[in-house]
Amino acid sequence: MRVGVVGGGVIGLSTAYYLKRLGADPVVVESAALGAGCSFGNAGWVCPSISSPLPAPGLTLKSLSWMLRPDSPLYIRPTALPSLAPWLLRFRSFCNHTDQKRGIAAIAGLNRFTMERYDELAADGVEFECHESGVLMVFRDSDKAAAAEKEVKLVTAASATSCTDLTEAEVYEREPMLRPGFRFGLFVGGDRHVRPDSLTAGLGAALRAGGAEVHEDTRVTGFRDEGRRVRGIVTTKGELEVDAVVLAAGAHTGSLARMAGWAIPLTAGKGYSVTIDEPRNQLRQPLFLGGAKIGLTPFEGTLRFSGTMELSGINRRMDVARIRSLRRIVGREVDIPEASYGGREWVGMRPIVPDTLPVMGKLPSRDNVYVNTGHQMLGVTLAPSSGWALAGLMLEGKPGVGLGAFSPERF
Ligand SMILES: Cc1cc2nc3c(=O)[nH]c(=O)nc-3n(C[C@H](O)[C@H](O)[C@H](O)COP(=O)(O)OP(=O)(O)OC[C@H]3O[C@@H](n4cnc5c(N)ncnc54)[C@H](O)[C@@H]3O)c2cc1C
Repeated sequence: MRVGVVGGGVIGLSTAYYLKRLGADPVVVESAALGAGCSFGNAGWVCPSISSPLPAPGLTLKSLSWMLRPDSPLYIRPTALPSLAPWLLRFRSFCNHTDQKRGIAAIAGLNRFTMERYDELAADGVEFECHESGVLMVFRDSDKAAAAEKEVKLVTAASATSCTDLTEAEVYEREPMLRPGFRFGLFVGGDRHVRPDSLTAGLGAALRAGGAEVHEDTRVTGFRDEGRRVRGIVTTKGELEVDAVVLAAGAHTGSLARMAGWAIPLTAGKGYSVTIDEPRNQLRQPLFLGGAKIGLTPFEGTLRFSGTMELSGINRRMDVARIRSLRRIVGREVDIPEASYGGREWVGMRPIVPDTLPVMGKLPSRDNVYVNTGHQMLGVTLAPSSGWALAGLMLEGKPGVGLGAFSPERF
């Protein structure tokens, strides 16, 4: 079975990897280079313990209006508001306890296989940089610490992982680079982190070594249908014959799904990062600054900080003011001398739908077109388990985990 996988990010590559592992012939089609999209400059956390949907109970129109402030961690660009309004109203409809619990349980279901799948990739010989040092979350004020702790405990209860409360002294013992005043901390010891570009490079190399076709610099522009089936993927470099298709083009998956007759309300949740090579000081483990919602990650020879969720449409425009604000906060909270001036700046588009759950399964409009997207802030965490589950569904009719909550039919 020849399966065209559209998109060479962490989700498309993981899907192609598991399709190949189960005996299919994946053909990866990527408009730029493998791993060059959102999968490139992200924080790389593999974090089942803090995996939850974004809509939370208590989000009011008033708190949505705070998101129009340029320094808000979740920012809505005012000029994008008219086109985003229907999406935001749907997002708001999920801000309740029932949907939050349902979403946490669904994501935890996939995450039950996350570490097993990561271990499997490593055992198969896929090469990537991986660390098992947990994640430290720190807070200056008790309200934010209590709210985060409540959410983390909901997730850890559903995912059978655990977290530990830390005293101020324990916070500084774990991370001496923090500026004074972080009186509250949580440590989630089971979480890991990977260097995301090493993961996409490793998956790409494994696919090529196994004989899979990989087409880079090749944009998918349409499909050739025969009745309810897609027979050909039309690209900027000609047509590729296929038996089935997986759409895994990140934030661009919505427009591809429309070409295959199905609407998915997908937008981009933009995030920014700064990567400093050979930093003067290095963190002991990934660090989450709870108040500002900024994540910092130590990799071999580099340090990255990242954050913000900006809704401003599907484009990679970089908002200089938001990068400046990210740098200012990190320099104020952590002893990183290069925070205010150094490093490489990056913007990425997280694929995100209103309930912020992944979208996985067959499109109702075609008999052989599947989708794997919408992994919001969790694409690196969920990639191997999502790729494995979708490949299982496609080739064996058994995803190995309940995918009902992720069905494209819900839109
Ligand atoms: C600042 C930031 C920090 C993050 N931190 C984390 C984290 O710590 N942990 C975590 O789990 N997740 C994190 N994420 C989220 C994670 O990066 C994403 O969920 C994930 O990368 C999405 O992967 P993807 O493969 O769906 O999309 P992408 O990586 O964007 O891949 C999609 C690919 O499809 C290609 N494409 C698009 N259109 C076409 C077309 N027509 N034809 C062919 N190819 C096409 C694109 O070029 C792209 O390469 C973070 C994101 C950001 C922005």
